[in-house]
Amino acid sequence: MKKLVSLFFILAVAFLFFQTSGAQEIEARGYEFLKKAVDQVSEQNITATIKALQGFKTRNLLSEPGSKNSGIAAARDWLLKEFRKIPGLEVVDDGYKLPKQGQRIVRDTELHNVVAIKKGKADRERIIIVNAHYDTIAVSQDGRFHYEDFNTGAPGANDDASGIAAMLEMARIIAPLETEATIHFAAFSGEEQGLVGSTLYAQKMKQQGRNVEAVLTMDMISNVRAGNGYIDSTRVRVFSDDPNDSSSRELARYVKKIAEQVYPSFEVNLIYRADRFGRGGDHTPFVQEGYAGIRFTEARENYSIQHTTQDVIENLSVPYCADVARIVLASTLSLACAPEAPVVTSDRGGPLLGRGQGYDAELRWKWEGDMEKISGFKVYVRDTKAPFWERCYFAGKTDSFILKNVSIDDLTFGVSVLGVNGFESLVSVYRMPSRRRAEYIFQEIK
Ligand SMILES: [Zn+2]
Repeated sequence: MKKLVSLFFILAVAFLFFQTSGAQEIEARGYEFLKKAVDQVSEQNITATIKALQGFKTRNLLSEPGSKNSGIAAARDWLLKEFRKIPGLEVVDDGYKLPKQGQRIVRDTELHNVVAIKKGKADRERIIIVNAHYDTIAVSQDGRFHYEDFNTGAPGANDDASGIAAMLEMARIIAPLETEATIHFAAFSGEEQGLVGSTLYAQKMKQQGRNVEAVLTMDMISNVRAGNGYIDSTRVRVFSDDPNDSSSRELARYVKKIAEQVYPSFEVNLIYRADRFGRGGDHTPFVQEGYAGIRFTEARENYSIQHTTQDVIENLSVPYCADVARIVLASTLSLACAPEAPVVTSDRGGPLLGRGQGYDAELRWKWEGDMEKISGFKVYVRDTKAPFWERCYFAGKTDSFILKNVSIDDLTFGVSVLGVNGFESLVSVYRMPSRRRAEYIFQEIK
C-alpha cells in the first residue's frame, strides 16, 4: 500500500512537472513572436518623428494656428497624416471646445486628441490604450511659466515627442498583425495644462462603459544624462499606484516579466508609486476612473532642459528611446494577443477565495471564452509583503484550485490564463473589498 501511495505521488509530481514544462514550451512560442516584432523597431523612424515634431517651434495647446509649419494645429495635421499612412488603422480626430478656464487655459481654445485604432478580433471588446502627449510647454525668458505666453519656443523633443515617436513606431509594427484586443494609439493634447486631453478621453471611456484593460503612458523616454552628470541608459522606470495588489501594479509586473523574457539587456525598474513627486501623467485620469494605468519615464531626468528651448534631439539618446519602445511594444502586443484575464470576484463583488475544508486555500474563477484557444490557467502566490509573485502552479483547464493547509489570510493569490498561442493574460488578483463603516442606532448614557 505504501509503495502504491509513493508511486502515485511520483506520478502526480511528474504530471505537474509535465504540465508546467508544457506551459513553458507554449510560452516560448509567444516570446519568439514578440522578439521578431521588437527587432523591427527602427531608430531612423524614431529620429524622423522627433525631428518633425520639434520642428513645429511650439506645440503649446494655446499656440496660434500660425502657419503650416508651426503651432499645435500644424503638428496635429502632421500626426493625422502620419497615422493615416499606416494601413489597418482607423484614425480619429477626438476634438473638444474648451472655454477659457482656470489658471492655465487663458483663452477659449480647441483641444484635439489624435487617436489611431487597431481593431482586435475578440467578440467582446477589450481595449489597451498606448499613449503619449504631443503638446508642449516652455518657460518664458525669465525662466518662469507664463501661461499667456503660449507662442514662446517649446520644441519638446523629449517631453514628449519621444513618447509620440515610440508610439508611432509601435503602431507601424502592430497594425499588420492580428490581435485579440483593440489598441488605441492615443496622442493626447493639453497634458501641460493639467492632463486635459487624457482626462476627457478617460471620462469618455468610462461614460461609454468601455472595457479598458490597460493604459500605458510613455512620457519623457529619451534622456539618459541627468543635470548632475549621472548617466543611465540601461533602465526605464515604470510607475504604478498603490496598493500592492492594485490592477495598475499587476500591469507593471506584467511588463517586467515580458521585458525580462523578450529583451533582457534592458531593465524595467518598477517604482511602487503613482508618479514622480509632485508630477502628473496621462495614465492618472484613467487610474482615477478605475482602470489599470502605468507610466514609463527615463531613469535619469535633466531638469535644466525640461520645458525649455533646449529640449531638442541633440540632447537626447535615440537608441535609448528605441529600447523603451521595444519594451512597451512587447508588453502591449503580448497583452493584445493574450486571452482576457479570468474573473476572480463573485457577482456580489467578493473574492472567489475560500478556506475549502477549513484550513486550505480554495481558489475559484470564472472565464467565458473559447476553451479550445487556451492551454490552461496559472495560479500565482506570494507573501503579502512581497514585491513579486513567488510561486506559480499550472492548474490546467479547470475553474478551481486547492492549496492544502495554506492560509488565505497570510498570502496573496492570483490567477491568469495562458492561450495556446503562447500569450498569457494579466493576473487577476484576489482582493478583499474594504469593510464598510458601520452605523448603529444608539443613545449615549449620561
Ligand atoms: Zn510630458
